Amino acid sequence: MTRSANLGFPRIGARRELKTATEAFWKGQRDHAGLLAAAADLRARHWAAQRDAGIDVIPSNDFSFYDQVLDMTAALGAVPARFGHDGGPVDLGTLFAMARGTDTAPAMEMTKWFDTNYHYIVPELHAGQRFALSTTKAVDEVTEAQALGIQTRPVLIGPVTWLSLGKAKDPGFDPLSLLSSVLPVYEDLLRQLVAAGADWVQMDEPVLSLDLTPAQRDALARAYAVLSGVGPRLMVATYFDGLRDNTDLATSLPVDGLHVDLVRAPDQLNAVLDSLSADTVLSLGVVDGRNVWRADLKAALGPVETAVARLGGDRVQVAPSCSLLHTPVDLDLETDLDAEVRSWMAFSVQKLGEVATLATAARDGRAAVADALTASSDAAAARRASPRIHDATVTARLADVTPGDAERASPFPVRQAAQRARLGLPAFPTTTIGSFPQTPEVRQKRAAFRRGDIDQAAYDAFLKAETERTIRIQEDLGLDVLVHGEFERNDMVEYFGEHLSGFTFTRNGWVQSYGSRCVKPPVIFGDVSRPAPMTVDWARYAQSLTDRPMKGMLTGPVTILQWSFVRDDIPRARTCRQIALAIRDEVRDLEAAGIRVIQIDEPAMREGLPPRKADWDTYLAWAVECFRLAASGVADGTQIHTHMCYCEFNDIMPSIAALDADVISIETSRSDMELLDAFVDFHYPNEIGPGVWDIHAPRVPPVDEMRRLLDKAAKVLPRDHLWVNPDCGLKTRGWSEVKASLENLVAAARGLRQADAA
Ligand code: GLN
Ligand code: ZN
Repeated sequence: MTRSANLGFPRIGARRELKTATEAFWKGQRDHAGLLAAAADLRARHWAAQRDAGIDVIPSNDFSFYDQVLDMTAALGAVPARFGHDGGPVDLGTLFAMARGTDTAPAMEMTKWFDTNYHYIVPELHAGQRFALSTTKAVDEVTEAQALGIQTRPVLIGPVTWLSLGKAKDPGFDPLSLLSSVLPVYEDLLRQLVAAGADWVQMDEPVLSLDLTPAQRDALARAYAVLSGVGPRLMVATYFDGLRDNTDLATSLPVDGLHVDLVRAPDQLNAVLDSLSADTVLSLGVVDGRNVWRADLKAALGPVETAVARLGGDRVQVAPSCSLLHTPVDLDLETDLDAEVRSWMAFSVQKLGEVATLATAARDGRAAVADALTASSDAAAARRASPRIHDATVTARLADVTPGDAERASPFPVRQAAQRARLGLPAFPTTTIGSFPQTPEVRQKRAAFRRGDIDQAAYDAFLKAETERTIRIQEDLGLDVLVHGEFERNDMVEYFGEHLSGFTFTRNGWVQSYGSRCVKPPVIFGDVSRPAPMTVDWARYAQSLTDRPMKGMLTGPVTILQWSFVRDDIPRARTCRQIALAIRDEVRDLEAAGIRVIQIDEPAMREGLPPRKADWDTYLAWAVECFRLAASGVADGTQIHTHMCYCEFNDIMPSIAALDADVISIETSRSDMELLDAFVDFHYPNEIGPGVWDIHAPRVPPVDEMRRLLDKAAKVLPRDHLWVNPDCGLKTRGWSEVKASLENLVAAARGLRQADAA
């Protein structure tokens, strides 16, 4: 019988209950028992919701107080020495210390989970490291669900993915060499799971969607040769891309089930069916776990019926493409959403209903779910035909784009001369990345305005006063290129989404970003255009208050795309071009309003890279083109900046240079300017501001520390290309540290100027 399965349910709660409970615990406002009770309540509700949606195979251990990779790290007892763990069970306090750091031990590093906006905690691995089963969480959740009458399939991060995501902390050491040390712990855990009553275990091995080294391939084969004999049947799950050259490897693992992502890689089905070994269950990820759109059930049923015809119904499961961690919880809460757009959407609960319908159709025939199939087709047809998503002006404009639109009028050296003459900046010019502290007062005023407690005029007056104050502070500090402070913006993507057509916003469409932090991505549902200027009034007002150049601040098209839920009915590249043209109009309007320096932030440029290297060039080509379309409509004398943070530049350096921004500011201070190496090796042609103040830590860097970083940068980059700036925006910092740090930053720049003059 074809069964419906889920790979993971969002754990934060439809109203972010887990965030509320966890943060209250951190603040000491809720005790340990209270936090555990809140978590158990959420798990019970989520299991029941999945059962009620008609899901046969329900996951457990997909819950986490912080992150599922960290949970696996804790289960293996891989606690870094600085947390003073004595080797016994890893408790919640230790888990939170690893994630968030303590007064004496810095937190473990965090990085993005494949190409999602979810961050996991990076395992720290050492040569000769020892492991021992150190938590009972996975086993406890099986038992807990059973007590509620629900049989679950626990989820573990598989050993090869866990090791591959880890960071080697000893030089020349290969984390995969630890495989034989971690396997006994996995065996131990699998034995306990089976003893607790789990007949199947889901082993997440998303590395199977990546380009694998021979060592990784070998490790996968070795790991599952061992683990498949332990007891529970294993469902190896991979997602976010196709198996491609890993198909034979995946299908030859001696396991009982394989899950593949047919949303990202529908074409892999036949190859997988051809090489699947007899008896292996195939789980088909046919409902998009990364987006908010309703599935077209008839279309999704195609591969399911193909697989059932080939394998028989018993060997087929229907599932979301990946864990629903990346999708909000329940569309039913979105009572304010435009009814038409809402009728095209599905969140986790609705997606599981779709999965169940597809399984029923495969089991009992299409006629058994005829109404649901018709409703789905009708919604899909209505969406395709809706005038709300098609804008003929946007289509015509895209068709008119010429290659010249993505080229500045002159090459960089000509522009540089024009900008120098026009701006008259000193050597080592100082600037900031855009935002200034979003104090409790700023946030309270915004909330009051949104509630209707204060009117537009009062809110604007407050923002203007805050902006003016910030400009005076920058003048007093002696900064060269000023910013207005971004007080009118809640979020660098949401602000632009709210001003563009084709976007809508949810009330509770939260997805976990890291730990208790959630984001509510805008939803792009239609062709994007800019009905009116978005930032020009603020920029003009700010520039009117000072003679120094005021930077216009924009978010770039790739970042707006990357941090939104995107349409699934046209290619991402096309939506990105639409956004690029809207930003282009804004850039030109800023220029016309007398703004001489315009920054287009692209912090998400790198995270959009596809999982497979073979796809990088295609992505980078359109991403770069979109940035250039946005940036190239201005005269030589208008200086375009861009900003990127958290970025490994080495492997995409040619594309960073191809953006052809006049100035780039990047994060480098945390790595002691190490990240600069890429710019040096590549001979980065344009001007560059390597961040000299790590704004992510609440600390005022002394002048000589910033000077040392600048001297380091000045040794390897042309001195007359260097800017002096912090790492990132200052919105999370307090005013006193901002003033003190910027005073030091300006002093460090002046020190360099004096050294050159002497
Ligand atoms: N201009 C933005 C700011 O200063 C940039 C934020 C970012 O890089 N993530 O807040
Ligand atoms: Zn940044």
